Amino acid sequence: MDLLYPELKKYGKTKTNVLLSRHTTFKIGGPAKYVVTVSEADKLPALLNFLSGAGEDFFILGGGSNVLAPDEGFSGVVIKIDCAKCRTDKDEIIIEAGALLSTAVNEAAARGLSGLEWATGIPGTVGGAVRGNAGAHGSDMAQNIKQVEAWRNGETTALTSAECAFGYRDSIFKRDGGVVLRATFKLIPSDQASVVKKMQEILLGRSQKLPTVPSAGSFFKNIKTGDWPGALPGNLPEIYRERGMIPAGWLVEQAGLKGVKIGGAQVSPQHGNFIINAGNATQADVVALVEEIKGRVYDKYRVWLEPEVEIIMP
Ligand SMILES: Cc1cc2nc3c(=O)[nH]c(=O)nc-3n(C[C@H](O)[C@H](O)[C@H](O)COP(=O)(O)OP(=O)(O)OC[C@H]3O[C@@H](n4cnc5c(N)ncnc54)[C@H](O)[C@@H]3O)c2cc1C
Repeated sequence: MDLLYPELKKYGKTKTNVLLSRHTTFKIGGPAKYVVTVSEADKLPALLNFLSGAGEDFFILGGGSNVLAPDEGFSGVVIKIDCAKCRTDKDEIIIEAGALLSTAVNEAAARGLSGLEWATGIPGTVGGAVRGNAGAHGSDMAQNIKQVEAWRNGETTALTSAECAFGYRDSIFKRDGGVVLRATFKLIPSDQASVVKKMQEILLGRSQKLPTVPSAGSFFKNIKTGDWPGALPGNLPEIYRERGMIPAGWLVEQAGLKGVKIGGAQVSPQHGNFIINAGNATQADVVALVEEIKGRVYDKYRVWLEPEVEIIMP
């Protein structure tokens, strides 16, 4: 008899045998044995304590926009965070982890608060963005976060931005398995029209630059020029030298990989750092393509690209 199912139902709507391809922007992934959708924030720590105490394998899913799920599916419990309450107090937005990042961005615009415009158009939830320190246009979550409430090793604690130890697409939560429950953004009172104008410009730029086919966004991390072995490539555009960051997409393009396809996975012909699901791609197709890319970039430049996308094991 399945003893776990009735337990899980205490914390949220529970379904069995759920295709992860339906919950990821890559549209890849076999069936998860259980998916519990938690929409009440108070129930999340209790569920996490229950699963860790019972030794059950679990995985946190936000918007599924930065993950590559296994073809075999996931035999543990997927916790889909759906708590999404949001309120504003003067220049601060206090928002639950399951809210879309766009909810925070739109709330800021509605209140004439500046600071989050850079995040316009980034899919996914606040929790996923905090954990990965999502960023664009020279900014990132670290610039806006005042406090994060998180579940860490059985305790719910509040961390300051410094305690979150944000780095490039990195935070303490990536390293300690902490689960983000709620975030407080500290923003700057501004003129609403200029906030909206900036958002529109960013959205237009993104729509011209980024592929719209299924993907998980930029697949690899960019490389800091300071981490580059030896002299920088002679043809590296000046702008990248100034920014101190070599885009992974530029390296992929220089290695002649744009458009290369394995099975249903393809390096986007439009953007070198996007691996797209060009039709019925599997995790195995993407992983094979990732290995091909890493190998060819290494052969040319003697650097290993590191995935930004979380590759979930079965
Ligand atoms: C078209 C497209 C464009 C994108 N553009 C950008 C961009 O400009 N900049 C950028 O940084 N990213 C970008 N991304 C990647 C992605 O949108 C971000 O990384 C986003 O913040 C991930 O949030 P999510 O809720 O979808 O996380 P998920 O994909 O659901 O999860 C990602 C990881 O975070 C963990 N996680 C999720 N929620 C929590 C939580 N509450 N607590 C702890 N861990 C959690 C998951 O377990 C997983 O390990 C893009 C993706 C796509 C598809």
